[in-house]
Amino acid sequence: MIIMKRDATDEQIKRVIDEILCCGLRVDVSRGEFRTIIGLIGDEKRVSFDHLAGFPGVKEVQPVESKYKLVSREYHPDSRIIKVGDVVIGGGEPVFIAGPCAIEGREQMLKTAEEAKSAGANILRGGAFKPRSSVHSFQGLHEEGLKYLAEAGEKFNMPTITEVRGEGQVELVAQYVDILQIGARNMYNQDLLEAVAKMGKPVLLKRNFGAGIEEFLCFAEYIVAQGNKDIILCERGLVPIGKGKEYTRYMLDLSAVPVLKKETYLPVFADPSHGTGRRDLVEPMSRAAIAAGADGLMIETHCNPQEALCDSQQMVVGNELKRIIDICMKIRKIM
Ligand code: PEP
Ligand code: MN
Repeated sequence: MIIMKRDATDEQIKRVIDEILCCGLRVDVSRGEFRTIIGLIGDEKRVSFDHLAGFPGVKEVQPVESKYKLVSREYHPDSRIIKVGDVVIGGGEPVFIAGPCAIEGREQMLKTAEEAKSAGANILRGGAFKPRSSVHSFQGLHEEGLKYLAEAGEKFNMPTITEVRGEGQVELVAQYVDILQIGARNMYNQDLLEAVAKMGKPVLLKRNFGAGIEEFLCFAEYIVAQGNKDIILCERGLVPIGKGKEYTRYMLDLSAVPVLKKETYLPVFADPSHGTGRRDLVEPMSRAAIAAGADGLMIETHCNPQEALCDSQQMVVGNELKRIIDICMKIRKIM
C-alpha cells in the first residue's frame, strides 16, 4: 500500500500510479476523505519500495502482510454500500433476499415473488443453473428460468439474483439479473470469479463449506482485483463434524459474520436455509445472524415447498418469511 500525504496533488498521485504501471503491475486507488491509498496488484518484487517512497507526495509505503489487502478494512476503512435499484445493501437496514431454490416454472416464480414481496423481501432469487450432486436431479430451466425471474422481478419491482455456475453462462445470466451469485462449490474457481467480476454488476460470493475465513477473503480479492468492489460475502454453513448430517445439513458459522465485518469493508449476509437445511431452524438462525451483525439474509422461499424440485425441506412459505423479516427488523432496531 502506498499511502499518499493529505495534500498530495493529483499530479503526484498520477506519477506514482504511472511508475507502478510501468513496472507491469496494476493498481487499485482508494480515495478516502483524508488520504489516498494506492494498492498494488501483482508481483510486488517487480517494484522498488524504496524508490517509490522517495516520490513527491508519498507519505509512506506500507507492506501488507495479509494475503488479502484490497478487501481489507485496513485498506478501505469505510463500509461499502451497494445500491441495486431502490435497495441499499450495507446501509444499516437489513436486506432480505428471498425466492425459490430453483425456478421451476412461470406460475411458481410469479406466485413466490408475490408472496416474498408482500412479506417484505427486497431482492428476488431463483436458481436457473442449479449445482446438483446428481446428474439425474433437476438441473434448472436455464434461459427459460431467467426469463421468468426477470419478469417476476419487474412485476414486483424487486432486483434479482441468480447463480452463475460456469464461465460459459456469465454473459447470458448478466443480461437477465442485477446481482450475480457465485455458489459455495465455485468459490475457488478463479476464472469464473474474474469473468463475473468483469460484468460490472454486484457479486454475491458464498463461502465454500470447507473454506477458512482467510481463503474466503483471498478469493473475494480476485473480484476486486478486476476493479469490482461491489461484493456481498455470504456465510452459508460448513460441513458438519461428528455424525454429520444427523440434525443439520451444514453448520452455519455465525462467528464468521462479525469476523468478516471487522476484516473487510464488504457487506456480509448469512444463508440460514442452506446453513441448516431445515425449515424449522430458518427463523432462529435468521434472528441470530441479524443479532450477530449481518447486513442481510438469503432465505429460500416457495409458494408450495411440498412440490419443490429442489431443497423442499428447507424452504419457508410467505407467512413464515413475513414473521422472520418482522422479527429481524425488530432485533436490528434493538441493536
Ligand atoms: C443456492 O443458493 O442456490 C445454493 C446452491 O447455495 P450454495 O452454493 O451455498 O450451496
Ligand atoms: Mn437450495
